[in-house]
Formats: sequence, structure tokens, C-alpha cells
Amino acid sequence: MVEGDSRGNVNGVLTIDRAIIDAIVAHARRDHPDEACGVVAGPIGQDVPARLIPMDNAARSMTFYEFDSMEHLRVWREMDDRDEEPVVIYHSHTATEAYPSRTDVSFAGEPGAHYLLVSTREPDSEEIRSFRIVDGVVTEEEVNIVDATVKA
Ligand SMILES: [Zn+2]
Repeated sequence: MVEGDSRGNVNGVLTIDRAIIDAIVAHARRDHPDEACGVVAGPIGQDVPARLIPMDNAARSMTFYEFDSMEHLRVWREMDDRDEEPVVIYHSHTATEAYPSRTDVSFAGEPGAHYLLVSTREPDSEEIRSFRIVDGVVTEEEVNIVDATVKA
């Protein structure tokens, strides 16, 4: 694991606070066996996931997720208003490994985002992996979980 005191703008690494990961895992556990999904927004251009936005899986499915179209619009508009971007787009897999499905790849519309997957197929542990998905090409990256620094 990489030391956690430098963050952002490193290719091939997602640096994310432990508190946000814990909240994503809690969301995934809550919605299990359906897939959970959401976004972590952050200030544009900084690659720092800061504001967790759990979203509805409109498909309410155990095998794929789909943002509700109205909620999608509202959340993206809100990020625009706050000069934020979707730094992380997360969802859970509840019976398979934390690797993007063919459907995930075909619906991945944010080439600048980290696609974080959490597998809840094991009751006592979670598999957490992150990917870039650009033009249908999936590239795994390191996940660097850091303890939140005290903000002045
Ligand atoms: Zn998936």
C-alpha cells in the first residue's frame, strides 16, 4: 500500500478516505442482494473524492445497476452548480467478483471517473477494486485507502 499523505493526480491510483469506503460498503451491505450504486463527487480537476452521494438502483437488480434518470439529472446538475465532478462512480456486485461486467463497460459514460466496485458475495469481507473504463477498455488501478486528514 502506498503512503497516504499525498493524494490526487497520480495515474493508476484511486486515493480515497476510509470513511467514504466504509459508507460505500455499508450502502452495499444494506441493499444486498440487490446491487447498490452511487457517486463520490469532488472539486473539478483535483481527483479527490469528497462528497458521497448514494443513489437508487432503478433496476433493483441482483445482476446490474442503472441510475434513475431523474436522479441522475439532479445529481449531475447539483455537481455542476458546486463546481464538482463525479470522481468515483461506485456499485456493488452481490454474487460475483468486483470486476466490471460487459453491461457495466457498455454503460460507462465517464472516462474521467474511477469506477469502484465492491463485492458483497462474502458475508464477512468485501472485495474492493477500482478501474478506469475508457472507450470500452477496462484498466485496473490501485486503491489507496487513507485515514481522513484533519481539515482546518
Ligand atoms: Zn456491475
